[in-house]
Amino acid sequence: MDLVLGEAMQRVIIVGAGPAGLFAAHELADSGLEIVIVDMGKDISRRHCNIIETGLCTDCQICDVICGVGGAGGMSDGKLNLHPQIGGNLLEHVSEEKAWELLNKVEELFCPDTIDQDEYNNRWDELVHRAAGAGIEYIPIKQRHIGSDKLPRVIQRIKKNLERKGVKFKLNTRIEEVIVENGRVTGVKDSKGNVMSADFVILGVGRAGTEWMEQVARDLGLTMEFMPIDIGVRVEVPAVVYEDLVEINWDPKFRMHTPSYDDMVRTFCTCPYGFVIKDTYSDVVGVNGHSMMEERSENTNFAFLVRINLTEPVENTTAYGLSIAHLANTIGGGKPLLQRLGDLRRGRRSTWSRINRSYVKPTLRDVTPGDISMALPHRIVTDILEGLEMLDRVVEGVASDSTLIYAPEIKFSAMRVKVGENFETDVKGLYTIGDGAGMSRSLVTAGCTGILAAEGIKKHLGLLS
Ligand SMILES: Cc1cc2nc3c(=O)[nH]c(=O)nc-3n(C[C@H](O)[C@H](O)[C@H](O)COP(=O)(O)OP(=O)(O)OC[C@H]3O[C@@H](n4cnc5c(N)ncnc54)[C@H](O)[C@@H]3O)c2cc1C
Repeated sequence: MDLVLGEAMQRVIIVGAGPAGLFAAHELADSGLEIVIVDMGKDISRRHCNIIETGLCTDCQICDVICGVGGAGGMSDGKLNLHPQIGGNLLEHVSEEKAWELLNKVEELFCPDTIDQDEYNNRWDELVHRAAGAGIEYIPIKQRHIGSDKLPRVIQRIKKNLERKGVKFKLNTRIEEVIVENGRVTGVKDSKGNVMSADFVILGVGRAGTEWMEQVARDLGLTMEFMPIDIGVRVEVPAVVYEDLVEINWDPKFRMHTPSYDDMVRTFCTCPYGFVIKDTYSDVVGVNGHSMMEERSENTNFAFLVRINLTEPVENTTAYGLSIAHLANTIGGGKPLLQRLGDLRRGRRSTWSRINRSYVKPTLRDVTPGDISMALPHRIVTDILEGLEMLDRVVEGVASDSTLIYAPEIKFSAMRVKVGENFETDVKGLYTIGDGAGMSRSLVTAGCTGILAAEGIKKHLGLLS
């Protein structure tokens, strides 16, 4: 049965075809609604395509076919962290039981092409104890890993499945305005001035759409709050250093508080046998990492990040992060910086000849060897040095002089729009989900927020109690 209001079928426009938008569409498909997913597409998403950047692209053309579908998620390496408080905090929005229901749903949709990592890993306890002995917290998580070489096919399968259910994709279309009348959303306008009317609009615009999202929120007078930011480096070590650990957890999560500043430092996005890659934030370059299922390097890399929460009078964490990234890019001549840990410790810059003497061969070479302490604030450098010393007590060899450090790695977190139940904003029928709205920081959590927004719409229409 199609749901009609007057003459027309009720229409939901989803802006953003990342995991948040795709999972919202999946939840709404089969509900008798007209679902249209709009994405600005190819150029923006390919900017994130690190497989192309690292020269490892197999030219399968799948990215051309999906053309922006999958968002940043489609170009990631698909580590699925299945935990209510990793990659965002679902427990701020739903009960633990509901959070697991959502996580299981997202896993099920991604799952047929994934490799089961840790479901019944009986060595988690061993690592919890080992870490506790070093004053570090280890968070055991059920994880799956798809691999950046396999993920495009998974996204393509999800897209085809949605199309079979009648979901329409309008790609290469940038939405510029959200139209609101009398406190209720009525549609969106694209960059060519075309208006698309809608009964409900879901904004899942990811990090690429953060600034636009903030502008929309300002224009509509929505209440916003700044979220913390994570600033740090990408660490690269010989794969053998992490071999034992990644058998326990593919992406082991450690958290610690450093002695000098009592700051929280954490490991994030571990890429076993992976590659360090460039990442673009606004107009500056930073680093990230990925690993593939079929192409392996001899190294493992991970992000090592310091959590920064600014308070009044300077709360804008995005501006703070960008100014650090700009400084790092200035020192690096427009490229990320690379330094050996031993050089950082001794207060001297790295050079290619010093790096070439190290037995860890960098997987990203389009960098400038230099001095990271000239780019990152002293407090962050101290946190990184102390944190790596602590981690070395659990992961022996991680803080050796030859360990490679790339900077900057920054995980921006958007301003968060104040939302009510199911992520509905103060504008009726308008929902903000995923990374762009500051609601998530991962594929899985972004997907969960999409499902929740879709459930909100179903509740409004009496399709869900
Ligand atoms: C290199 C890399 C590796 C990563 N690896 C992992 C990982 O292994 N595991 C993990 O959990 N997370 C990973 N992430 C993070 C993950 O990709 C994001 O958390 C996730 O994709 C967020 O989903 P989203 O739907 O909110 O946004 P996105 O996936 O960013 O999608 C947003 C979409 O909105 C579109 N859009 C933006 N503005 C507009 C507009 N105005 N009009 C129309 N369309 C618009 C964009 O084109 C984009 O397609 C990685 C990210 C990167 C960059």
